[in-house]
Amino acid sequence: MKVTDYIKNSRQTLFSFEILPPLKGKSIQSIYDGIDPLIEFNPKFVNVTYHREEYVYKEQENGLLEKVSIRKRPGTVGICAAIMNKYKVDAVPHLICGGFSKEETENALIDLQFLGIDNVLALRGDPIKTENAFKAHPRGHRFASELIHQVNDMNEGKYCVDDIKMAPTDFCIGAAGYPEKHFEAMNLKTDLIHLKKKVEAGASYIVTQMFFDNQKYFAFVQACRDFGIDVPIIPGLKPIRSLNHITFLPKFFHIDYPEALSNELLKCKTNSDVEQVGIEWGIQQSKELIAQNVPCVHYYTMSNSDAVKAIAQNIF
Ligand code: FAD
Repeated sequence: MKVTDYIKNSRQTLFSFEILPPLKGKSIQSIYDGIDPLIEFNPKFVNVTYHREEYVYKEQENGLLEKVSIRKRPGTVGICAAIMNKYKVDAVPHLICGGFSKEETENALIDLQFLGIDNVLALRGDPIKTENAFKAHPRGHRFASELIHQVNDMNEGKYCVDDIKMAPTDFCIGAAGYPEKHFEAMNLKTDLIHLKKKVEAGASYIVTQMFFDNQKYFAFVQACRDFGIDVPIIPGLKPIRSLNHITFLPKFFHIDYPEALSNELLKCKTNSDVEQVGIEWGIQQSKELIAQNVPCVHYYTMSNSDAVKAIAQNIF
């Protein structure tokens, strides 16, 4: 079922979460171990991230270094199929522009359709780790709006290979939004212009980047509405879990902690102190969002569901 239909059909705030494929070599059981503790909270959908290739330098026998492309977390589509099969819960694969030609995207979407997957979250994707800016595939897409356009075209029966009659797909398309602005955007206004393009191209809901200050989410939703973006905007929450997260999350995701939270984090001496603060903060954030009737609260597990479970026990 489509994410937008779940939202339309529910009078209560929904629960959903995002998982990462395991590092290459780990079994599907590691995915189930992350999902099992959260199933009792009745998630309507589970997102599975997509991780593109990275380049590493491997020493050859002659001592020279060879640049090799590797994918550390393959398996997004297989994991989605396994989740739907085992839990009967909709899985939402993330689909990215990076590394894909339009034809490869088309073929990937055909696979998803054959698997009975109704939803995709369409993203540009991050730059490759060793590159400092995003580079599009020569026959691919530069921006998420272009990718969304392609999926929407397929929903209308228009494929890249247009000399044969094609059956239309019926994907519900989600897009990413940034309450604190995407880090490359000149300002919030230009980011909103580009966000609106994603909705005009066919995105029917938005999932936000993590944020720790609900006021920023409420202001973002208002700015979207003022700008004519009227699709559901699902807030994304991430419980901080370790001393390392304190600096990693703002650096990697370009977000700020509100002062009340940073004051609490400054007192933490151990990972478990931070986890406790993260859980309490997540509970407060979730309660306030639900009191404002948000359509769904979407939690980023980042491969560990303990803190999300601790929050969900108090909320759902
Ligand atoms: P876009 O919407 O294309 O925007 C990228 C930048 O370009 C923005 O600054 C925007 O303002 C600007 N822009 C857009 N259109 C134009 C235009 N026409 N002209 C000029 N500028 C333009 N990354 C992954 O690799 N895998 C994942 O699974 C993944 N999951 C994510 C899930 C969520 C909920 C979120 C919020 C992010 C996720 N990301 C993921 C990260 C995401 O790929 C990065 O944030 C990426 O840098 C931007 O993706 P986007 O889809 O928002 O890009």
